[in-house]
Amino acid sequence: MIDSYRHKGMRKQLVEELRNKGIRDEQVLEAINKVPRHFFLDNAFVEFAYSNKAFPIGAGQTISHPYTVAFQTELLQVKKGHKILEIGTGSGYQTSVLAQLGVKIYSIERQKELFDKTKLLLRKMEINANLYYGDGYKGNTIYQPYDGIIVTCGAPFIPEDLLRQLKVGGRLVIPIGDLGSQIMTLIVRDSETEFSKTEFGDFKFVPMLEQKAR
Ligand code: SAH
Repeated sequence: MIDSYRHKGMRKQLVEELRNKGIRDEQVLEAINKVPRHFFLDNAFVEFAYSNKAFPIGAGQTISHPYTVAFQTELLQVKKGHKILEIGTGSGYQTSVLAQLGVKIYSIERQKELFDKTKLLLRKMEINANLYYGDGYKGNTIYQPYDGIIVTCGAPFIPEDLLRQLKVGGRLVIPIGDLGSQIMTLIVRDSETEFSKTEFGDFKFVPMLEQKAR
C-alpha cells in the first residue's frame, strides 16, 4: 500500500471540491485530506478513488461518496474523545475518517465477508477502531450511551434501539427513506424523553437490512 505524492495531490483537489460543495468544518476536511481513500478500493478503481463517486466494495455494497462521508461527519459534530457508533462499516473508509478525528469508534457490519476484509485492512493500516459483526438495528448496548451514532445505509425508519443508546445532547445522523432515495436526517436527544429532528437533502445509500448475513 503506497500513498504517493500523486495520491496526496489528488486528495488535496478532492478537499477543494468538497469545500466548493459547501463542507465548512476544517477538522473534517483535514481528516479527508489525511485518509488514503485508495486503500479502501480494489486495485481496479485506484485511479478513481479521488473522484466524488461511490464504488463497489464487494458483497453487493458500495463505499459512500466522499461528499456524503464529509456531510455526515460534519453533522455529527464530533470532538476528540467522543464515543461514536457507526452502522455499516463497509469498506471502513468512513470509520477511518472518524478515527482520524480522535473519536472512540465502534462500528457494526452485517455482511461477514466485508467485516472480515475490513478488519484485516484496518489492522494493517493501524487504525484504532472496534469492529463488530452484527445487526445494526440493535446498536451495541455494551458501550452505550454514545455521543453520536452514524448510519451509513438507508433506513426505512428510525430504529428505537439507536434512539435509546444516544446520550442526552447526542446526535444521530441517519438517511431515512425507501430504496429509491433517502432524506439525511439529524436527530438530537434534547432530554431523556425529547428528541428533535432536522432534515437535509436527498441521498442514495444501499439499504439497511435486518439481521446478520453470512
Ligand atoms: N461506511 C461505509 C458505507 C458502506 S455501504 C463505507 O465508508 O464504505 C453500507 C453498509 O451497511 C454495507 O456494507 C451494508 O452491508 C451495511 N449494512 C446494511 N444493513 C446493516 C445492518 N442492519 N447492520 C449493519 N450493517 C448494515
